[in-house]
Amino acid sequence: MRPTDNLMPVDQALSAMLQLTPLAEVIEQVAISKAAGRVLAKDIQSTCDVPPADNSSMDGYALRLADAGAPLPISQRVAAGRSPGPLTQGTCARIFTGAEIPPGADAVVMQEAVSFTAFDDLLVPEDLKPGQNIRRAGQDIRRGATILKAGTRLDYRHLGLLASVGIAELAVFRKVSVAILSTGDELVQPGKALQPGQIYNSNRFLLQGFLEALGAEVVSFEQVGDTYAETQSALRRAADQADLVLSTGGVSVGEEDHIKPAVESLGELAIWRLAMKPGKPVAFGRIDQSIFIGLPGNPVSTFVGAQVFVKPVLARLAGEAAGEPDWLTGLASFSAATKIRQEYLRVQATWQDDHWQLNAYPNQNSGVLTSAIWANALAVLPPESDVAPGDKVRFFLYADQTTPKPDNN
Ligand code: AMP
Ligand code: MG
Repeated sequence: MRPTDNLMPVDQALSAMLQLTPLAEVIEQVAISKAAGRVLAKDIQSTCDVPPADNSSMDGYALRLADAGAPLPISQRVAAGRSPGPLTQGTCARIFTGAEIPPGADAVVMQEAVSFTAFDDLLVPEDLKPGQNIRRAGQDIRRGATILKAGTRLDYRHLGLLASVGIAELAVFRKVSVAILSTGDELVQPGKALQPGQIYNSNRFLLQGFLEALGAEVVSFEQVGDTYAETQSALRRAADQADLVLSTGGVSVGEEDHIKPAVESLGELAIWRLAMKPGKPVAFGRIDQSIFIGLPGNPVSTFVGAQVFVKPVLARLAGEAAGEPDWLTGLASFSAATKIRQEYLRVQATWQDDHWQLNAYPNQNSGVLTSAIWANALAVLPPESDVAPGDKVRFFLYADQTTPKPDNN
């Protein structure tokens, strides 16, 4: 087999992966204090108005506009947390921010705008407007409104909103459990001294951080030697524990690559070898109830594979509505030509007045992980494309925009 035979296009591979990935099903109840990062399993309707009643947005005086011409004695004092009585005709109420508007009052005058008669009656300015300084009941949320949809991954903003309608407990999907396998006889954990022939295992930590940031739970990790037996038994253990088994390395066709036959012996491999660069030998399949994704060992290939495949697959397993990147278009500052593989370039995307400008990291080798830190986006060049400076290129951001620097190398 030639190295370029039977390569599946990336888009076709991704949609097949998503089709083979089961949607999240298992639901659990969690307290709102534990809900950050979880995915909502059901739409949330509000059972109350927010705010629940008209209230004052100022410290000041509540009155009837019809009474505004004459001096107004103060007939009640309403602090936040108190329930006011109806406002007596021809009087005003002292009121504070967040306090409920007394029935009958239709405006609040801020305390800085008033004066008093010798008898301590209130005098208000003439230019008053109906409803001024009153926050209306339901101005934020109406009772019965859907405030959040199933599939939303909850962050601190959502928690604030949920609390504002009084929700203490909510239904979320179970966290996705992931097992990471790092294949390679050459790998050593950071913290140990390197012996000749060895390199540090970077993929394990790259993937662990990536997965945890996406709300998954890494339940096991193994470093696996390059033998068929070791690979097979590690895959077996991983599949017994996790919804998603992620391996790196050993997925090609070399004598030291055992992932493919080992997965085939335990389950089935649906996808293998994609028309993409970096990362041709990506594999996807099932072992029992677990989804298996095999990423190539080069750290940039692992990184790109994580962005392009692991993220959307994980989103589906997690019940999250969003998984696909937000595609953007930018102008290339570089030249590039692709062959039969779709290429993912590490680029620095910066917004310049009215468009995104894309600068490519000079060394796009799949072993150069520095490129992924320097860059904040992946530009996608389809197969057989020629890109010249100024050409439009599709990309997605994976990190915030960095300040452009003339030369970072
Ligand atoms: P493989 O896909 O096993 O052929 O590995 C491709 C390249 O990636 C080799 O140079 C490996 O040494 C390297 N590599 C594999 N796994 C890791 C890892 N976990 N961390 C860093 N480099 C790796
Ligand atoms: Mg290897």
